[in-house]
Formats: sequence, C-alpha cells, structure tokens
Amino acid sequence: MTQTIDRNRIEQLVRSAVMASTANGSLDLAALNAAAVNGNSAAKPVSRSSSGVMPKHPPGWVNGKPNLRVSISARHVHLTDEHVEILFGAGSVLEPDKDLYQDGFYAAKQTVMVVGPRRRMLPSVRVLGPTRPFSQVELALTDSISLGINAPVRHSGQIEGTPGCVLVGPAGTVQLDQGVIRAARHVHMNFADAEHFGVKNGDIMQLKIKSDGCSVVFEDVLVRADEAAKLEVHIDTDEGNACNLEAASEVLLRKDDCACKSH
Ligand SMILES: [Zn+2]
Repeated sequence: MTQTIDRNRIEQLVRSAVMASTANGSLDLAALNAAAVNGNSAAKPVSRSSSGVMPKHPPGWVNGKPNLRVSISARHVHLTDEHVEILFGAGSVLEPDKDLYQDGFYAAKQTVMVVGPRRRMLPSVRVLGPTRPFSQVELALTDSISLGINAPVRHSGQIEGTPGCVLVGPAGTVQLDQGVIRAARHVHMNFADAEHFGVKNGDIMQLKIKSDGCSVVFEDVLVRADEAAKLEVHIDTDEGNACNLEAASEVLLRKDDCACKSH
C-alpha cells in the first residue's frame, strides 16, 4: 500500500481547519464537540430481558435482572500514550469529558482529524479513553466510504493487515500503517449476564430490534464477557440508523442456537 500524504499539505489543512473553527467563534466549536460526544456515547435506554432469578447484584443489573442496553458507537479513535503526546503535545494526556456506560471508559475532550488517501478527511473524530497499546480508528461503513478507505469488519484489537490513515492533532501528525476498522457488533456482559443467557465469552448471539417499519435482526453479535462489564450491545451508526434505534419499541437479545441449524 502506498500512502504518501504530504506532511506540509496536512499541516496546511490543519491550519485552515483551525482557522475556520476559530473564525466561527468558540461557541460553534463547543457545540461541535458536544455533538460528537453525544454521538459517541449515545446510550439508548431500552427494554430489559426476561427474568433471571439471581439474588446477587452483578454490575448493571436492575431489580435483580440483567438490564439490556443497546448503544451506538459513533466513529472514534483509540490512541497509545505516545500518539497522544505527538498529537496533542509533549506531556499531554487524555482528558475525560464524559463517562461511557462501561465503568472506566470515557469520551475524551480531545478530537483528531482522520485523513485518508487523496486527502479526504473526517475533521473531528472523538478520542475514547483510556489509552491502549495500539492506536485504532473505528468507523461505520458510511464513514469509510467518505474517507475512501476500505475498512474491514474486525473485532477490536484485531488490526493485522487492515488499512492505515493519518491522524492530525493540534501539535502533530501520526501515520498509522494499520488500524482502520469497522468494529464488529458485540455485546459486553458480566459472567452473571452470561449465565443468564446461557452463553460464554466468544459465543455469538442475535439481537432483534423492533422498530416501526424498519425492524432488524442483527446476527453475528459477539459475546465479550468479563467480570466488570455491564450488559450493553455496541453497534455502529449505520446499524443504529438502519433500525432507527432511537425510536425502537423493543429489543431482544438471544443466544444464536435456533432450531433451524439442526434441521
Ligand atoms: Zn464495545
């Protein structure tokens, strides 16, 4: 893959982007950031699933039951500590702005510009914290089309052989050789949730979303179980829009073991 994006050109782009935003006044910039944060963590309150009888209080349970939440992950970036310093200046760290539903995770105040081939770009992509061992860009298909990057569906962290891009921050740029993906849909849960649904880490589930005129059944929902997680499905903006998640009347999560496979 040849990705020769001229650094001077990128710096020009940044300068003009920054000047455009300050020319609009700080209010606009603040509004822009707020919108992006909401998008990142748009947690949709949704229905709860059936009645497990467990006297314990696992994370996220309400009234002794798993409390299913379906959230849209808007496009976002994960960064290494090193990349945070390159992009935002020596000594910089991510500044938490808004907590995500999963404990310990947050949308940072910082955003970066993501630049694809032929200088197509997404100007303000939210950084999620905490930092990670590898930087990674998670896009919806629509985002990747507008960037001109053919991002494959991958589970988080599985970035071998994926395309790269250039990240631009106020203090510098980072060229990623790989790490641009469409995050595969998945469901976070703790072990009590897993027991409730009869699944384990790595299993595949189905998510049905009932919505007026555009109900969808999502297959291939990967179970990501760990001790501290709260029950939450993550889908991207394209998936959320396809079923108008905002207006969904019902969601149903079930183990993918339908009888059809044994026939
Ligand atoms: Zn997730």
